[in-house]
Amino acid sequence: MVDKRLHKTPGKVDWDEKHPDKFRGDVEETGIGFMGYDWSSKDDQFKVYLHYDQLYYWKYGEVSRLGKGFIDGEFWGTKCPKCGDKFFPPRVNCWNLDDNLEKTEWIELKQEGIVHTYTIAGWSGKSSLKRLPFVLAYVIVDGCKTAIANELRNIEPWDAEFGMPVKVVWKPKDERQGTVTDWWFEPADGWEPTVGDTPEKERIKELCAPVYEWVESMK
Ligand SMILES: [Zn+2]
Repeated sequence: MVDKRLHKTPGKVDWDEKHPDKFRGDVEETGIGFMGYDWSSKDDQFKVYLHYDQLYYWKYGEVSRLGKGFIDGEFWGTKCPKCGDKFFPPRVNCWNLDDNLEKTEWIELKQEGIVHTYTIAGWSGKSSLKRLPFVLAYVIVDGCKTAIANELRNIEPWDAEFGMPVKVVWKPKDERQGTVTDWWFEPADGWEPTVGDTPEKERIKELCAPVYEWVESMK
């Protein structure tokens, strides 16, 4: 008897969409290439520039529907047929010990959620520096038992709240890459902060002020 809990991705895949198809075979990979160097005789410092050029792929394997869903503007999570727990990000096997690693099933989720917890980022990777300071939230989507992290935009950082309802906003389809950066969270339509100015909000505003100033200085 085949144990359904055990599963693997197929060795050979019959892809029916290759998007785009034109780069395959056309990418000239150079690996690490030497670009040049700087030398300072005054400060006795030497620096070498290397450019790394490598095409790589990232197989989604058992959670492939998650990535394709992002391309299509859909949220796909999983659900355990035994206990009904729902997961987003998806889990391939149920986590409940009583369910003996039951294999989960795919379900399309509503694109709405509740902020489980959050933090305010005062520093980030290069691609999002100019959006600082921003809110990073773990959100429970459509009643799932796992929470997914993403940016919560279109809100003053000090107004973010635990338990607040959020919606999902997508990048235009032709800019999506099948990753979590294809979308972000925003407060649900009609949501207003439940409290006005508080000493805590003032404290956060003060902490954010130098970050806004620094971002302004970058423009
Ligand atoms: Zn279960």
